[in-house]
Amino acid sequence: MVSSGEASIEYGSGGRYPRFFSKMDGKTVAVLSDLNTHPLALPLEAELGRRGVRVKEVLFDDSDLLPREGECAFALEQSRGCDYVLAVGSGTLNDMAKSVATRLGIPSGVMATAASMDGYLSKGAALMRNGFKVTDPVNAPSDVLLDPDIIRRAPRDMTAAGFGDIVGKYTCLADWQLAHLLRNEEIHEGAYERMLQARDTCMDAYPGLVEGKGEAVDRLMRALLAAGQAMAMCGNSRPASGSEHHMSHFLEMDFARRGERIPMHGFKVGVGTLVSLEIYRYIRSHDLDLPYKAGIDGIAAGLPEAEQVRAWLKGMGCPVRFSEMGVRKETMEEMLEKAYTVRDRYTVLTLAHEFGLTAQMKPLLMERYW
Ligand SMILES: [Zn+2]
Repeated sequence: MVSSGEASIEYGSGGRYPRFFSKMDGKTVAVLSDLNTHPLALPLEAELGRRGVRVKEVLFDDSDLLPREGECAFALEQSRGCDYVLAVGSGTLNDMAKSVATRLGIPSGVMATAASMDGYLSKGAALMRNGFKVTDPVNAPSDVLLDPDIIRRAPRDMTAAGFGDIVGKYTCLADWQLAHLLRNEEIHEGAYERMLQARDTCMDAYPGLVEGKGEAVDRLMRALLAAGQAMAMCGNSRPASGSEHHMSHFLEMDFARRGERIPMHGFKVGVGTLVSLEIYRYIRSHDLDLPYKAGIDGIAAGLPEAEQVRAWLKGMGCPVRFSEMGVRKETMEEMLEKAYTVRDRYTVLTLAHEFGLTAQMKPLLMERYW
């Protein structure tokens, strides 16, 4: 991989991004969009064309695009001979652009259309293969183009999901501290601080976010991008992904196995966050025989109450129970037992498993979050 993870982020409006355009001078650019994002791609394509940039339009005739083999092969074929792949979209289209560009050995970029998840800058592409969800290592995009008006006007569900992803940074950063305390895992201070500040700046804007105010949605978008920057700083996804993400990944694999539509990433992360907060609180409020108990209590004391986070999620229109997303009861039970195995990473779920807390807490967690 050649990516430095330092994407250039450019704000523009009405399809105008001067810095990006000068970079594309004399190049041929494949522009990936689907039926939802094509209207947003058109002004950009026109502006590129006006500047003499050759545009290869790659349009998916789909409004519910899945990154399966056929779709990826189509994007790859269409992008051959191009110098650059630009996605106009969010998660799926960006992941496809990153994957295609990596395979062709050319750079990619994205004109983001929603503050819906924190994977814009990630070096992973979530794709479907043989009906299963896989995460391919890819180069991070070189450019992110942002039009605050477009992000603000994205479907409400997408902004809500992005918020769920940011709420997950409470438990993911707590899990990092926990791993430092119990496993001596190094904390990259710069990456930790970057994520923490971005999360808090976004949370300060919560009232505006509920009202869908432009400035607040912009802060959410910046926090989502900060997750990618923090990951690039420390070289792995620790600053942005802990137990709450492991639960989300576990459920995604289960949905994919069943061939069912996978609920939005941030929605699963949001409810996963509630489960993790509940485990931290349980530890803190019980006299348990755990190593470094006082230290763990200290980490737990720095977290918001689960009720508070549930109210925040509800206020944004996010689900607060897994059953609201179509998760089966037995799947959630299995998730509580096994989600810690999804990644080789120490989290509060690993701790709960090691000390038998999962079994103790299962009835309570099922009652409150299924
Ligand atoms: Zn995420």
